[in-house]
Amino acid sequence: MLNTAELTGERVAAIQRADQLSRRWKQRPTCMVADYKPFQVLDGAGLRCSLYVSYCPFNCMGCYNKAAQKANYGTALNAELTEQILTDVGRPHVAGLTFVGGEPMLSARHLVPIARRVHDVGKTVWTYTGYRFEVLRELTDERRLLLELTDVLVDGQFIAELRDDTNPPAFRGSVNQRLVDVAASLGRGSIIRAAS
Ligand code: SF4
Repeated sequence: MLNTAELTGERVAAIQRADQLSRRWKQRPTCMVADYKPFQVLDGAGLRCSLYVSYCPFNCMGCYNKAAQKANYGTALNAELTEQILTDVGRPHVAGLTFVGGEPMLSARHLVPIARRVHDVGKTVWTYTGYRFEVLRELTDERRLLLELTDVLVDGQFIAELRDDTNPPAFRGSVNQRLVDVAASLGRGSIIRAAS
């Protein structure tokens, strides 16, 4: 639930409008990659590899990665990069793979096979998304599949007014965003927070 106390009515309306519209957004025909960063600790628990996927129509005010909002930013995901990612993720000291945006859910059809292979080698998948868990749970397309293959979902739009620079929440940009334990939350039917 959005804490609206620090937001103008106009801002609340814009955030809720994007939340509604996001249900109808279509999958990208090609997964464009803005960046790939192996072996870092910024995007989730443990040492992880991060795949930054282009395109994000949420267009949050203060977005940290405006360039990656564009549909054709970066280079197309190909077999060579996919195998490199899976080789990196398979190393013993690596905890898993994180999908970061842009908006990974709109390239879900391309990311689902990768997420499956990450699980096949016993590693975890984190996904950063502007979608809320409650929206993804109700969908029936590739976005729902990627949700099910995600261990920890970092959900919700970035809301600049809800950024806390004095006590920043772990792995999140604004305090409305949550670390969701997906399997537990789907099982119970309500949000269970993942440990950070
Ligand atoms: S959801 Fe993330 S990538 Fe998309 S506009 Fe918001 S901050 Fe930027």
